[in-house]
Amino acid sequence: MNRRLGHIAATLALVALALFAARMGNGDGSAREAKKFSVEFFDTFDTLVSFTAFTKDEIEFEGYARVVHDEMLRLHRLFDIYHDHDGLVGMKAINDAAGGVPLSVDASIADLLEIAKDAYEDTGGAVNVTLGPVLKIWHDHRDRAPANSGDAPIPSLEELQAAATHVSASDILIDREHSTVLLRHADMRLDVGAAAKGYAVQKAVELLRDAGLKSGLINAGGNVVIIGPPLDGRESWNIGVRAPDLEELRPAESKLLDVLYLSDGAAVTSGSDQRYFTSGGRRYHHIIDPETLFPAENVRSVTVRHPNSTVADILSTAAFVLPPDRARALIARHGAEALWVTGDGKKLATPGYLARSQLVRSADAAKGGAAEP
Ligand code: AMP
Ligand code: MG
Repeated sequence: MNRRLGHIAATLALVALALFAARMGNGDGSAREAKKFSVEFFDTFDTLVSFTAFTKDEIEFEGYARVVHDEMLRLHRLFDIYHDHDGLVGMKAINDAAGGVPLSVDASIADLLEIAKDAYEDTGGAVNVTLGPVLKIWHDHRDRAPANSGDAPIPSLEELQAAATHVSASDILIDREHSTVLLRHADMRLDVGAAAKGYAVQKAVELLRDAGLKSGLINAGGNVVIIGPPLDGRESWNIGVRAPDLEELRPAESKLLDVLYLSDGAAVTSGSDQRYFTSGGRRYHHIIDPETLFPAENVRSVTVRHPNSTVADILSTAAFVLPPDRARALIARHGAEALWVTGDGKKLATPGYLARSQLVRSADAAKGGAAEP
C-alpha cells in the first residue's frame, strides 16, 4: 500500500512513503505491528538522502525523520565550504580566516577536523582535507566544462603545483579546550568532501539510536548506515551497490553492481562516475591523487564496509587513491571489508565483503529488482 505522508518539516521535500504491515516479536510470544516508512530529501550535501525505518506508526516515524533531517542540515551548513550560513561559523569562515586569528567553532567542526588530521597520518596523505586549493581548480574546470563536448580544458600541472604550496594537515591548528580552529597559512583551504557526508550520517544514526530507533537505514548518495535488521521477518536489508560506468558502456543493463545483505554498520562507495568531465577521450573525475594532483587512476570504484560510517567514508576515498597493495593493507588494518572495481572492470573483494554480498551479474539484478529502499 502506498500513500503520501503529510509533511515532516517545512524544508523536507517528500517523495514517497511506503507502508507495509510487518510482525515484530515481543519476546513473550506475542507480536505487535511495525510498519515501514520512507522519506527522501534533497537539501543536504548536494545529494539525495533517503531514510527508511520500521516504527509503530507514522507519527513516530516523523519524529525520527525530523532527527535525521535536522542533524544532516545542521552539519551540511557547518561543513559547507562554498557558502556562509547566517550566524554560523562554518568551514567557509575558517577558509576565509586562514593565516589570521583562531575562530571559535562548533564542537562538530573541531571533531571532524581532528578526525581528518588523523586520517591524513593514517592514510599516508592519501586523504588530505587541506587539498582545498587544488580541488577548487578541478571543481571550477568541472563546472565550466561544456556539457557533452568531450573537449574541456584541463588544468596545467604548474597551476596545480602552485596551488599545492601548503597542503599539510598538520597545519590545521585545533584547540579542543577552547574549541578554536586556525589554518596556519593564508593560502590554505579546507575541502572536507571526502569525509563530511559519512560523518553526518554517522551522527544522525547515533541520535536515532539514542532516541530509541531499533530498525532503519539512511542512504545519503551511496553512504549507507543501518540500524538493526528490518522488522519484517528478514534477517537483513538489501543494499544496492551502484555499478561504475555500466550506464555508459552498456546502457541496456542495470546499474547495480552488487547487493549487500546488511543488518548493521556502514557501506560507503567512492566512484569515478560520480562527478567528472571529459576531455580528449579521457574522464577527469573528482577524487584527486595528492601525489600527482590529477584524478587517481588505480580503480573505478571502491565500496567499503565498516561499523562506523565516518571511517568507511575516509577508507573508501583512501582505498580509491592508494595503489592496490597499500589500499588492501589499510583496509585490513582497520578490520574493514572492501570491493574494488578495477580499470578493466574486474571485481576484487575481501573475503568478509563477499560473505555479505551477492555479486550478481547486472542483468540478473535488474530482473530481481533486489535493492532497497
Ligand atoms: P568521496 O566521494 O568520499 O570519495 O570524496 C570525494 C570528495 O572528496 C571530492 O569531491 C573532493 O571534495 C574531496 N577529495 C578528492 N580527492 C581528495 C583527497 N585525495 N583527499 C581528500 N579529499 C579529497
Ligand atoms: Mg569518502
